[in-house]
Amino acid sequence: MGSAWRWQLSRSMRLVLRWCRQQRGGRGGGSRTQISSRLLELWSYSKLLLHSLCYNSLADSDTLLDCVFEPIIWIVDSLTRWFGVAFVCLVVLLTSSVVIIVYLFVIPTIISTYPVHWAAWHLSCGHWLLLMITFHYYKATTTSPGHPPKNKLNTPSVSICKKCVTPKPPRTHHCSICNVCVLKMDHHCPWLNNCVGHFNHRYFFSFCLYMTLGCIYCSISSWEMFLEAYNAVESYNQTPPPDHSFGGSTAHKCIIFLWVLTSSVSVALGGLTLWHARLINRGETSVERHINRKETKRLRERGKVFRNPHHHGKIKNWKLFLGVETRRHWFTRVLLPSSHPPNGDGIVWDCTFNRRYFIAV
Ligand SMILES: [Zn+2]
Ligand SMILES: [Zn+2]
Repeated sequence: MGSAWRWQLSRSMRLVLRWCRQQRGGRGGGSRTQISSRLLELWSYSKLLLHSLCYNSLADSDTLLDCVFEPIIWIVDSLTRWFGVAFVCLVVLLTSSVVIIVYLFVIPTIISTYPVHWAAWHLSCGHWLLLMITFHYYKATTTSPGHPPKNKLNTPSVSICKKCVTPKPPRTHHCSICNVCVLKMDHHCPWLNNCVGHFNHRYFFSFCLYMTLGCIYCSISSWEMFLEAYNAVESYNQTPPPDHSFGGSTAHKCIIFLWVLTSSVSVALGGLTLWHARLINRGETSVERHINRKETKRLRERGKVFRNPHHHGKIKNWKLFLGVETRRHWFTRVLLPSSHPPNGDGIVWDCTFNRRYFIAV
């Protein structure tokens, strides 16, 4: 692309200059000819200036498409950024409403009807899940996913980001919503209003896992209360009370809301959690899943087999992801809230086999 541009430019220049010389030499320099020659020269210089300003050896059809779709992408990104704040408020609002309903209606029923040891187990399990959900959601939204260092020499990189014009370390990708490169980028999550990357990937996954477990727990615990509430609301609808008192029906509607919401979230978030667990099993991110799938297909057509350099085996992948180094860490770092940093700096990666990276200087 670059050489074609240069060739076209120099050819146009040669033709224009030759024509100018012919005009000057052939007609002996009348005033009209001089003016048109001068105008032609100005025109050719303007064209040259425009070409030199627009010229870029990296420009290709992708760049052209990017330019055409830039306004649409900008609108979508801005909307996603704005919706991110609304989605975070929605998560906080819905979670709080579930907690309030559980405290107002479910816990008093459990304490009054269940034996002491069952009530104690319910209280401990429910509060442990609430603690884990709150901690990991807070950490996932407030922790920066990590960005490549700027103006630092000798950064190992595999390419240059066209948007940031900085070296991209392995596993780094540009987020168009945050408008910045993110280390080991997984995806941009509107529910967190944050990118999921190297430094908050564990918090994101733990939040999904504990939120799913919490919703399953609420859904199962409130099943009998949901059936009672549903039947009661049905009977209210068929024969409404004469004094139009809705005190009892409000409690029943809250229980129905609790069960429907927690059951729906269990299914939807459970599916997402399983998908991410599968990716962690393979030692890849959501972005890498697409890239690796394409690469597998491309190499298969050439009779070769693709190998993911970041796949260290299932158990080691999980240990690296969760930051588990000793047996005790399964309890202190996985089952309890922990702020330990992830393995590595997100720039240099331990690969299962050698891969060619270049050093940006
Ligand atoms: Zn970038
Ligand atoms: Zn982002």
